[in-house]
Amino acid sequence: MLLFKNKPGSLFSGFNALWLQKPLIVGLVVLVAALIGIYTRPLDLLANLWPANAILLGIFLRFPSTQTPLHLCFAFIGFVIADMMTGSTLEKTLLLTTGNLVSVCSGIIFTRKYLDNFDSLLKTRSILNLIIVALVSSAAAGICGMFIYPYLFNGAVSDGWIFWFVSELVHYIAFLPFILAFPKSFKTFNLKKAGDISFLTLMAPALSVLFLCLLVVLIDGPGMVAIPVLGLLWCALSYRIFTTALLTLFFCLWTFSAVSFGYITLPLTLSTWGELMALRFSVAVISLVPIIISSFMQIKRQEISKLAYAANHDSLTGAFNRHAFMESLNQKFTDKPTNSIALLLSDLDHFKSINDQYGHPSGDAMLKHFYQICRSKVRSDDVIARIGGEEFAVILIGQDKTTACIIADRIRQSFAESELELENGQKLNATTSIGIVYSEQNIHPEELIQQADLALYRAKENGRNRVESYE
Ligand code: GH3
Ligand code: MG
Ligand code: MG
Repeated sequence: MLLFKNKPGSLFSGFNALWLQKPLIVGLVVLVAALIGIYTRPLDLLANLWPANAILLGIFLRFPSTQTPLHLCFAFIGFVIADMMTGSTLEKTLLLTTGNLVSVCSGIIFTRKYLDNFDSLLKTRSILNLIIVALVSSAAAGICGMFIYPYLFNGAVSDGWIFWFVSELVHYIAFLPFILAFPKSFKTFNLKKAGDISFLTLMAPALSVLFLCLLVVLIDGPGMVAIPVLGLLWCALSYRIFTTALLTLFFCLWTFSAVSFGYITLPLTLSTWGELMALRFSVAVISLVPIIISSFMQIKRQEISKLAYAANHDSLTGAFNRHAFMESLNQKFTDKPTNSIALLLSDLDHFKSINDQYGHPSGDAMLKHFYQICRSKVRSDDVIARIGGEEFAVILIGQDKTTACIIADRIRQSFAESELELENGQKLNATTSIGIVYSEQNIHPEELIQQADLALYRAKENGRNRVESYE
């Protein structure tokens, strides 16, 4: 969406205000969040719900390019407009806005100086960083509260500290995980994988949270408040961190509202802010548990998938390795024994002389180049593996014999006709010999490999740069 793109020839043509777009969005987000806060504010008391500071800090941390004075000015304008729109005096508006910005800026300055970035909460230190920055920003808010609360609301200095500190901490803990885990691109959501399980199974953890939140209100009682955390723990084990953070935020807001509107009765009278603060603080701290578990689970899942990738792939070319090739061949043998299978074994010709003449790194580049050509000639789910130094295997499933031979010859021809350009501009070419075996019967993998090997041997014997099939 280009808000400020001027039409050519218009009065403002040449004035391209795209640079204003992001600050304006930040200002608008602050305005809306502040209005939500103001409308939930009980008369003449501080806001019941004040998401604006946490959202602003979250945006600054998640998108470091927004940490500029211009973005800050727009955030300031957002806060002021929201307050003035709702009939606040200029003095009160300026004091409260200063408090908000001091809190947010303290978090930013501290992070820039002492913390590394939050990496979507996918580093072991990320959650600890989040708690530290929340504490710093809340403490800064608390210090502002010590001055503003007595001045504006005739309260005690110590109350000013407690109310501001706890209230901000609760909001930071509730909102920051959600914003920091917010995906930069939703393309990374693996719908294909999600499609493997039924919709109900996929939704069950989230539904359990909604159900337990409802149950807390239906079976009223103080001990029930933490019950939805059971559902959140299930989410933490099943979903990515963003989804868990979203549901945790829902749980916090639901509980805060249910308590405020009296749907959850507690042994506390909640007549004082202190008691309300204590309750909110506990809810926010409890809600950190699923976030922490979810973050660690996702870190673990990523590490396992990196290890699994390394265990099955050749690090030079990215092709499958021998182990994955054998597994794949065995699986095809047991899974669909009726399906036809073609196995291609390829060995680069006189490869040793390429190494000797141009050096080992050029040989490596040639291996990668060959893999790329193979990849471009077969279907994306066909297996290509590097099974030895300069030996590759390709498994084709469900192709007829003629097509398999055509594919093998295309690989050979493409490779022979292609040139690999080295870094120094020198151009290299090489050839490959391919042995192919085709089977519609359930032949054992070892036997299949032996037959393809014999065909490859014949291709070498008959002059190289050719395809021979096992008859
Ligand atoms: P032929 O046409 O008979 O296959 O001759 P060739 O030279 O390709 O056969 P040979 O088996 O004698 O040589 C294979 C060479 O492949 C020897 C080895 O140095 C090289 N090689 C094996 N692995 C790698 C690798 O990872 N990188 C590079 N650059 N070379 C490798
Ligand atoms: Mg060889
Ligand atoms: Mg060779």
